[in-house]
Amino acid sequence: MDPLLEEHYRTVLDRNPGEQEFHQAVAEVLESLAPVVRRHPEYLEHSVIERICEPERQLIFRVPWTDDRGRVQINRAFRVEFNSALGPFKGGLRFHPSVYLGIVKFLGFEQIFKNALTGLPIGGGKGGSDFDPKGRSDAEVMRFCQSMMTELYRHLGEYTDVPAGDIGVGEREIGYLFGQYKRITNRYESGVLTGKGLAYGGSRVRREATGYGTVFFTEQMLAAAGDSISGRRVIVSGSGNVAIYAAQKAAQLGAQVVACSDSSGYVVDEDGLDVELLRHVKEVERLRISAYADERPDATYVAGGSVWDVPCEVALPCATQNELDESAARTLVENGVRAVAEGANMPCTPAAVRLLQQRGVLFAPGKAANAGGVATSSLEMQQNASRDSWSFAHTEDRLREIMTGVHERCATSAEEYGAPGNYVAGANISSFLQVADAMLALGVV
Ligand code: GLU
Repeated sequence: MDPLLEEHYRTVLDRNPGEQEFHQAVAEVLESLAPVVRRHPEYLEHSVIERICEPERQLIFRVPWTDDRGRVQINRAFRVEFNSALGPFKGGLRFHPSVYLGIVKFLGFEQIFKNALTGLPIGGGKGGSDFDPKGRSDAEVMRFCQSMMTELYRHLGEYTDVPAGDIGVGEREIGYLFGQYKRITNRYESGVLTGKGLAYGGSRVRREATGYGTVFFTEQMLAAAGDSISGRRVIVSGSGNVAIYAAQKAAQLGAQVVACSDSSGYVVDEDGLDVELLRHVKEVERLRISAYADERPDATYVAGGSVWDVPCEVALPCATQNELDESAARTLVENGVRAVAEGANMPCTPAAVRLLQQRGVLFAPGKAANAGGVATSSLEMQQNASRDSWSFAHTEDRLREIMTGVHERCATSAEEYGAPGNYVAGANISSFLQVADAMLALGVV
């Protein structure tokens, strides 16, 4: 790292011990900023780097709830309100046993820059809990969500902090959270949560938005290189909300999507994934991905192993952080991959990103490629504020326009700061400039 920024990075390490994912996310941004602080020393003079790395507020609280057998369970929950220079704190909630402060801070930090890249007025935050929804009944999930909101509600508001979903938090959980918020506050404040069901203030395309947006970004990136996704062999990792709709949009644009995965293994379906079946298995029945192969005689299920062993031209990691390491990246390159776009947050390790870039693979970082989810959350907030409900086609058009803007901002900033074609540099620089300028304008806050 450039000596101008190294010292700040050391401070982050010292002040946030043991938070490896947060360190990784900060390093990735700071590594892009040397040309920026050289050209604009005012950012260093006004301590913008130190300020941006320190959350505005961090909440950690106990969530007690009763399971179906009548036993009291305790989980730990977090909300990190990272930066509100551009708008209210905005970002999802993750329910997964791996959640601890370091994960929430990495996600919150990423969210600041991702949200800025959308060009919409949203700040960055993230939350979650180490609650594991796997194997829990609906009633247990509801009691957990209600208990979590019983503490969280006092920190939220459409002008303050607006959570949404992430891993383990979908429409069902958002419904329970919203129900409890409404009950405690006696306010039908639609704009306090996004990712809501259509029946009570949700937006069309929100469910599809992250996956669709990732594919729209990939389309733009390939087009800028004189290529196209049509006819390409694509694999996605994961089989949740992002993966399912990335697969759907890629197929609609003429790609052949042949594989996806979950934490137990992966499925290869050379005829092209049946997205409806996948959605049914994962979102309706909440089963393992092997159940997909049971229903499709020509599909193969591979227990364990790595989905990145499946040859492809476009790879869309849509599962979770650090799921694609250097050796997986090498396999992808050997198999002829042309483009990798992160549907998940930070799924590629730093060594994997380096290798892909060195080998000339087009690489889109998550804060650009998966910004479609939060962008459509912002569209949901717009609809809520104007008491309106847009059509699917109009909302999808807006999403596509926004993703074109994200691509444009990344490409232009990369070019301006001497790294043409480097979407990592472009995404970090463009979003940093926007947040940093707003922070300077607001004074020492
Ligand atoms: N969890 C999603 C993300 O990582 C969406 C956040 C939101 O819609 O607020 O961007």
